[in-house]
Amino acid sequence: MGENEISLSMSVPLDSDGFLRRECPTCEREFKWIHTPPNESAGPAAPVADGGYFCPYCGVQAPTNAWLTKAQVALAQNAVAAEAVAPLLEDFSRSLGRIGRSSGGTVSAKARYNPPEKMDPLTEGDDMKRVDFSCHPAEPVKILDDGIGLCTASCAEPRRPPNQGRDRAPSRQTRLHPA
Ligand SMILES: [Zn+2]
Ligand SMILES: [Zn+2]
Repeated sequence: MGENEISLSMSVPLDSDGFLRRECPTCEREFKWIHTPPNESAGPAAPVADGGYFCPYCGVQAPTNAWLTKAQVALAQNAVAAEAVAPLLEDFSRSLGRIGRSSGGTVSAKARYNPPEKMDPLTEGDDMKRVDFSCHPAEPVKILDDGIGLCTASCAEPRRPPNQGRDRAPSRQTRLHPA
C-alpha cells in the first residue's frame, strides 16, 4: 500500500442464512449471494470466472468488486468521509492555524469543516427466495420473488457437470474467457 493510501474496511451484514445483499451493476436489481458456504457437503466453492460473477437476472458479467448495493456504496462513502477525510481536514485546519501564528500574524487562514454524521450500520433481513443450482451447489443465491435465477458462477460452460472432483486444476476457469 502506498503512503498516500488509506485503507478502510466496512462490515456488511449477512442474513441468517449467511447471504450477502448485492446489486447488479447492469440491471441494478438486488439479490443475495452466499457469503459463507452452505455446508461441507455442497463441496468447495467454484473458482471465480475470469471477469467476475454473473447476474442471476440479466446474466451480464461484472468484476467481483462491482456488486455493491446503493446502500453499501453510501455507507462506504460515509465511512471514508467520516473516518478518513474528516481527520485529514481537521489536521489541515490545525496546521493552517499554526502557519497563521508562526508567521507573525501576517497570514490569516480560515478553515471550517463539519464532519458528516456517521451513518447507522446496515441491517439484513431474511427476504427473497432462495435458488439452488445443481451446476454449482456451493453457490446458491436469493432473488426477488418475481425473478428467475441464473447461476452467478456463470455457467458460461453450462453443461459442465457439478463437482468434477477435488483434483480439478484450479486454473481451469482461466481458459473459459481468454483475455
Ligand atoms: Zn443484472
Ligand atoms: Zn453454475
